[in-house]
Amino acid sequence: MTETTNIRAYGTKAAEAPLNQMDIKRRKPTPHDVEIDILFCGVCHSDLHTARSEWGPSMYPCVPGHEIVGKVISVGEHVKKFKVGDVVGVGCMVDSCRACQYCEEDLEQFCESGMTGTYNAPDKHIPGAFTFGGYSESVVVHEHYVLRIPENMDLAAAAPLLCAGITTYSPLRHWQVGPGKKVGVVGIGGLGHMGIKIAKAMGAEVVAFTTSESKFAEAKRLGADEVVLSKDKAQMAAYSGKLHFILDAVSAQHDINAYLNLLRVDGSLALVGAPEHPLPVAAFSLIMGRKSFAGSMIGGIAETQEMLDFCGQHHIVADIEMIDIQKINEAYERLLNGDVKYRFVIDMASLKGQPML
Ligand code: NAP
Ligand code: ZN
Ligand code: ZN
Repeated sequence: MTETTNIRAYGTKAAEAPLNQMDIKRRKPTPHDVEIDILFCGVCHSDLHTARSEWGPSMYPCVPGHEIVGKVISVGEHVKKFKVGDVVGVGCMVDSCRACQYCEEDLEQFCESGMTGTYNAPDKHIPGAFTFGGYSESVVVHEHYVLRIPENMDLAAAAPLLCAGITTYSPLRHWQVGPGKKVGVVGIGGLGHMGIKIAKAMGAEVVAFTTSESKFAEAKRLGADEVVLSKDKAQMAAYSGKLHFILDAVSAQHDINAYLNLLRVDGSLALVGAPEHPLPVAAFSLIMGRKSFAGSMIGGIAETQEMLDFCGQHHIVADIEMIDIQKINEAYERLLNGDVKYRFVIDMASLKGQPML
């Protein structure tokens, strides 16, 4: 029997229900585990998709949160990488088999046995249970999936790097974005705003595509060289055939073909946004110009550490709006309206002060 303790968390009991405070069980650290006191947790649109069962039925209760920053409060006897007091992060996965070809290649997110998501995944330690994420006061994670936060970072603004940062860094690296490349970033939300900052730091020329006029000027402050209001057909037409690569971070239905049209011959569009419904792609959007329509999911653990170190060196963190956990339902509504600049981060002190239920 795995030993557990009760802790405070915030989650939902059904797709249609709001999030509320609840008590959950965490395992006591086993020999390779790190126990982390959570200081901050970013609010990713995937949290909302999952809490509301938009990607298929979720398991309830559901405690989202996979942009976790905190302090190590205890370590198992075999832990080598971390000690009590270290400032650490946990992203979207907390386990994988560590033996298959993809785990061996540092691509744990594509583990052949399936990676264990930080929330809503079968818990390997507690039979019948599902993992609970970072909208909680503490978490226990195998040391392999724990990241080091560079010393110069503001800890709250670093939290979104654990998902939004790696999800944009990984495809930008994979498709060799850098000097001499003209790159589009579509959807300037949590992911998109990190995509602009990181692509710019990699040396690319960055074009931001937004549906929000209020983000027009700001996209330049974030690092974009040019900004396009995607609803304006004339502005879109001016970029026809001009881009080497497009990173699409849109959370809802939109016309992919309009963006494929902006690629140069042999250009690629990588989807990281994960809307609820399929996005139709016309054959002629691809065959005219040997274009690639691709996708990418987060990044491996080694690459996540590489991204954190890269962001540390380039002084990159997220632009955040800090909230108390009691404001999470309101934050979800604002996320749906594209009304966040550019990531909500929960101050977990607002949960720790509450009585247990
Ligand atoms: P977010 O902060 O809500 O940003 C999404 C942005 O998409 C909005 O700010 C908005 O940008 C644009 N948008 C929203 N609705 C739109 C519509 N109807 N038409 C056109 N544009 C629209 O979300 P996020 O946290 O960045 O996540 C974005 C997506 O990536 C989500 O689907 C999420 O689940 C997914 N995701 C995937 C991975 C992965 O590994 N692949 C990891 C994390 C998240 P503008 O205002 O600029 O138009
Ligand atoms: Zn995420
Ligand atoms: Zn594996």
